[in-house]
Amino acid sequence: MARHIGDLPHALTHQDQLEARLRGKKPAVFLDYDGTLTPIVPRPEDAVISEDMREAVRDLATRCTVCVVSGRDRPVVQELMGLDNLIVAGSHGFDIWSPDEGTIERDAGDGAFQELLEEVKKRLHEVMDPIDGALVEPKKASVAAHYRQVNEAERSQIKAVVDELLAAHPDHLKVTPGKMVYEIQPKIDWHKGKAVLYLLETLELDRDDVVPIFMGDDVTDEDAFRALEGKGLGVFVGRADDPEVGERQTSADYILDNVDEVATFLDQLAR
Ligand SMILES: [Mg+2]
Repeated sequence: MARHIGDLPHALTHQDQLEARLRGKKPAVFLDYDGTLTPIVPRPEDAVISEDMREAVRDLATRCTVCVVSGRDRPVVQELMGLDNLIVAGSHGFDIWSPDEGTIERDAGDGAFQELLEEVKKRLHEVMDPIDGALVEPKKASVAAHYRQVNEAERSQIKAVVDELLAAHPDHLKVTPGKMVYEIQPKIDWHKGKAVLYLLETLELDRDDVVPIFMGDDVTDEDAFRALEGKGLGVFVGRADDPEVGERQTSADYILDNVDEVATFLDQLAR
């Protein structure tokens, strides 16, 4: 049930309530990165985690499952965290790595998704293989068409085949242009909430003796708070009087004002 952020109880002053909820159970902690483990900064590359926070996360991860779920690419998050005992889900959970199992293949649920990517790959190869320097790169959840090494005159052929594929599947494909690359992705109904539920299932944590806790600050984190309603706990990180938060409604259960309070909360969970 959504409510106003200003009405959320504070997680550090409602310790008894939380302890009662966790008694006899194990937490499984899911953490957003930007704005949750590091303060929001103007340039994302400056969002470096503090040593205190790194310690708190490392400690907690020796006691229970800890997973960072970010919209950033997984290797970037891993590099920023600098810890090897964490599960890291990048690209909003499309790309998952666990210390025990390595890369976890995400089952997209329907073969249609993989079939469509196969078709994209095949068509790109047909057009691009004869072009000098063109490169088709299949990825887990997309196919990239690289043209950096292609001479100017022939680049339009690659743009044309990408447009052709999008025109053929307007409801199922989208393209993200990058640096000398077109990234063709399926339009899939996927978000952090689905990622968290998927992780709970994959990691066999969808059990009565586990309380999943998700902590996040942004609008995309609301999907995760909603997914855990009746199943676990959501902790919103931020302040109701922050103009960027505004009149937002939330499905979180508790609030922490800032990143420092997140570190304190994680310390307490680890005890
Ligand atoms: Mg965030």
